[in-house]
Amino acid sequence: MATTSQHVHDHDSGEGLVPVEEARERLLAKIDPLQPLQLPLADAYGCVLAADVIADRDLPEFASSAMDGFAVRSGEVGSATSTQPVELRVVGRALIGQRPEATVGGGEAVRIATGAPIPAGADTIVPIENCEVAGDRVRILSGSPPGRHIRPSGEDVKGGEVLMKAGRQLGPGELGLLATAGFAHPTVHPRPRVVVLSTGDELVPPSQPTEFGQVRDSNAYLLYAALREAGAQPVMAGIVRDDVDQLKEVILSHLAQADAFVSSGGVSVGERDVVKAAFFRRGELDFYKVAMQPGMPQGFGHIEGTPYFGLPGNPVSVFVSFEVFLRPALMKMSGRKNLYRPEVAARLASDVTGPRGKMQFARVSVKRDRDGSFVATPTGGRGSNLIATVSRANGLAIVPAGTETAPAGSQVKVWLFRSAVD
Ligand code: AMP
Ligand code: MG
Repeated sequence: MATTSQHVHDHDSGEGLVPVEEARERLLAKIDPLQPLQLPLADAYGCVLAADVIADRDLPEFASSAMDGFAVRSGEVGSATSTQPVELRVVGRALIGQRPEATVGGGEAVRIATGAPIPAGADTIVPIENCEVAGDRVRILSGSPPGRHIRPSGEDVKGGEVLMKAGRQLGPGELGLLATAGFAHPTVHPRPRVVVLSTGDELVPPSQPTEFGQVRDSNAYLLYAALREAGAQPVMAGIVRDDVDQLKEVILSHLAQADAFVSSGGVSVGERDVVKAAFFRRGELDFYKVAMQPGMPQGFGHIEGTPYFGLPGNPVSVFVSFEVFLRPALMKMSGRKNLYRPEVAARLASDVTGPRGKMQFARVSVKRDRDGSFVATPTGGRGSNLIATVSRANGLAIVPAGTETAPAGSQVKVWLFRSAVD
């Protein structure tokens, strides 16, 4: 990445800044899907299958009855009516989870329960309401064609077929199918374990009262939620003072359990740029300025092969940086094919103004108009410290670089990050 200290900047014009798409592409090129491993089904929920699964048997495995009744031969009961019933001998029962007690021969019937395996010799089920039982005899009151009320084996999946393709994210249907087919430990890309750090001498935990000038650590919790929502596993490493040695120590102590690091703060210009100081000289981390608002200063690199995301300090910048860079990277690490949020076109309800040279991400509330089209209403000012503007929003409206004001009524692209805000 460009180490922009050599450049002269004009931040409003965007000169010397890396365009958002370019920064994202460069970053994603250095991210790989996590090494697949076998996980128990429940732990594999939400993960992406890393190898095709081939069915090693038919599903369902055996033909079963869809009704309580009698398993019979269709050819023997074809003429049965309530006035001219066909009488058969009851030779046994077929119960759920058990081998049928008897097979069905000429003139015979087997009493069967819903879900029980079909006894050999029978090819149809007569529901119990069309039968009269008298001792060891049953009178069949209506005919039943071959296959009626029988759930055949292999109807859902045939043995040898591809049960599920690599790349599929495991949701309810997938876990249910893998369970029924006997794949208790599917091979998946695991959830990325992401170590979360907040840097800043001014920070205190949310549980603590603030002295004048102190700031509660908002970013760690914002990131926790964003990571969970993205299917990652956050590891909360806490607040780190603006101290190079402490930062290095915390990072190194978490290295063994980390698939990625994300820190907030300490990447902007100033003598307290602790993240920069800790890693810049080692050349593992690049700092660059992206043509976006909020979220201009970004750090990205690797610590002993583990990706490190150094986000800016303001909470809205953290949120936007997560959506623009970190989330797609996590999707790639998770083996997902589609890395991005759904995008819709929406009409702005009011003007959105930003720096001309930067892509602006405005927090908006997106609703459907009466005619079904989307309308995006900004949820507040553009300041990157205004975290309430995120909590009121369900989308990020994009005003491209080169446009200073997107006027009310104009069409913008919106990334939807949730369906609606109640
Ligand atoms: P920095 O990039 O470290 O200079 O931080 C920029 C701004 O973000 C400062 O006003 C910080 O107080 C604020 N900030 C940094 N980290 C956090 C955090 N974890 N939670 C809330 N605000 C923060
Ligand atoms: Mg700071």
